[in-house]
Amino acid sequence: MPTYDLLIIGGGINGAGIARDAAGRGLKVLLVEQGDLAHATSSASTKLIHGGLRYLEYFEFRLVAEALAEREVLLRIAPHIVWPLEFVLPHEKHLRPAWMIRAGLFLYDRLGHRLFARSTGSGRGGSSSLPHSRRVALDADGCGAGLKRDFKVGFAYHDCWVDDARLVVLNARSAAAHGAEVSTRTRLAHARREGGEWVARIESRSGSREVRAAALVNAAGPWVKDVLQGALGVDIPAKVRLVKGSHIVVPRIHSRRHAFILQNPDRRVIFLIPYEREFTLVGTTDVAMGDADFEARISSDEVEYLCAAASRYTERPIAPGQVAWSYSGVRPLYDDGSRDPSAVTRDYHLLLDEGHEGREAPLVSIFGGKITTYRRLGEHALEKLSRRFPGTRAWTHAEPLPGGDFGGLGFTELFDDCVRRHPGLPAPWLARLLRRHGTLADAIIGNATSRSGLGEDFGGGLFQREVDWLVEHEWAREDDDVLWRRTKCGLHMSAAQRSRVRDYLSGIA
Ligand SMILES: Cc1cc2nc3c(=O)[nH]c(=O)nc-3n(C[C@H](O)[C@H](O)[C@H](O)COP(=O)(O)OP(=O)(O)OC[C@H]3O[C@@H](n4cnc5c(N)ncnc54)[C@H](O)[C@@H]3O)c2cc1C
Repeated sequence: MPTYDLLIIGGGINGAGIARDAAGRGLKVLLVEQGDLAHATSSASTKLIHGGLRYLEYFEFRLVAEALAEREVLLRIAPHIVWPLEFVLPHEKHLRPAWMIRAGLFLYDRLGHRLFARSTGSGRGGSSSLPHSRRVALDADGCGAGLKRDFKVGFAYHDCWVDDARLVVLNARSAAAHGAEVSTRTRLAHARREGGEWVARIESRSGSREVRAAALVNAAGPWVKDVLQGALGVDIPAKVRLVKGSHIVVPRIHSRRHAFILQNPDRRVIFLIPYEREFTLVGTTDVAMGDADFEARISSDEVEYLCAAASRYTERPIAPGQVAWSYSGVRPLYDDGSRDPSAVTRDYHLLLDEGHEGREAPLVSIFGGKITTYRRLGEHALEKLSRRFPGTRAWTHAEPLPGGDFGGLGFTELFDDCVRRHPGLPAPWLARLLRRHGTLADAIIGNATSRSGLGEDFGGGLFQREVDWLVEHEWAREDDDVLWRRTKCGLHMSAAQRSRVRDYLSGIA
């Protein structure tokens, strides 16, 4: 029977991040994901690497400081898929007074930098690579583009954008490069403790097999309790709160680069974010759920809520008929007893179970978390397991994710260089390829000197060479894996073009 140090259940951001960290520490790791990587919550986020300005209202200082420190780390190790984004907050004094917003932004500009300096050993306290917040005149400097003229002043600050699903895939790739085995479309069906180890039964299309592991990590996200109670038969007191969040994608409301953070009379905030060049992403909602829904879908009430919340501010109203695409995910929050789904803590809790008298094979279960803090969560998970795996060291803050080794260049310099070296290929397509793959883009282009050298053109900026790469190196198997997770090309294609990609992939299978 194959034996591993660590068996990780769940190929969302937390499972993939822990797999990378553990494999890089020299542990023998198996990651099992019942669907595709990132097919659940980790591809359905608002895609922000952020401290979470609104969490300051709930006094979540630890979370905000850690998240802001992580923003710096992720900008450095994944500069192709993480980049700065300016947010404009139109001021409405009856919702939150200016002094409160100023105080929040003052704190936001400063929190986290000391933690960042400590975690990287840079000794550089008190500075961020992003500009500080400022007050802006919405009618004067373009910050109000797309908004009603009634909004005159606002505040601007920076956070970061991330391609969430690609962050998961790149962590899995890095884990595999460090020796981890990554098995997608493989479900943990059952596991029991035996002789100081876990014996687990995992099932895939090719059948069922048993493996042994010294320790288990339950990173099943919204299914964390189902795995505990069903597959593992372990009872721990923590509860998970399932809160659905949905987004809509509509034709873009302005052609500038900044996003908006809009206050709503229910005290929630809604983001309007430039998306995939031609669109604006609008989200999100907070809807309490009973069960983890594998196929979470937006309801018509949520569509109307998002359209109404955005239209309070936008020059031209946004109507449900304009929605080009939508997606929904379920937040697996740690249940802190809050009544309001928006107020439930977004911080994470890792629970260690060592069985009878604390002497059996360890199990770490993950409750809550953010995309932003996944890397630190991974380090904490390995700290929890340090009795079982002593003497390992944190390392993931220092090594770039695959394609993120820019060698000191900025994205623009990398792009200019790429265009110079590939004069026969369309520059806008090169920019998108670089955003998805960073310095690995050249390996996909290979010896192609023109579009025809890239193989079949599926439309929407997707060529055969990239599809083959995604299948060979990134565990892509089905059309959704390619069209909606590893790329967003699906958004730019017709139904017939998407169906051609499906046929091509079933041909390969
Ligand atoms: C609407 C919304 C907006 C958000 N916005 C942001 C944001 O802007 N920034 C941010 O930092 N965070 C954001 N988050 C939070 C973030 O997305 C989540 O915290 C994170 O994705 C959770 O990752 P996970 O790995 O724990 O769960 P998941 O991504 O759900 O992964 C768990 C995986 O476990 C697998 N699994 C379950 N059971 C089994 C089994 N028996 N065997 C094998 N596999 C199994 C599932 O298939 C699933 O893929 C947002 C969340 C939502 C819902």
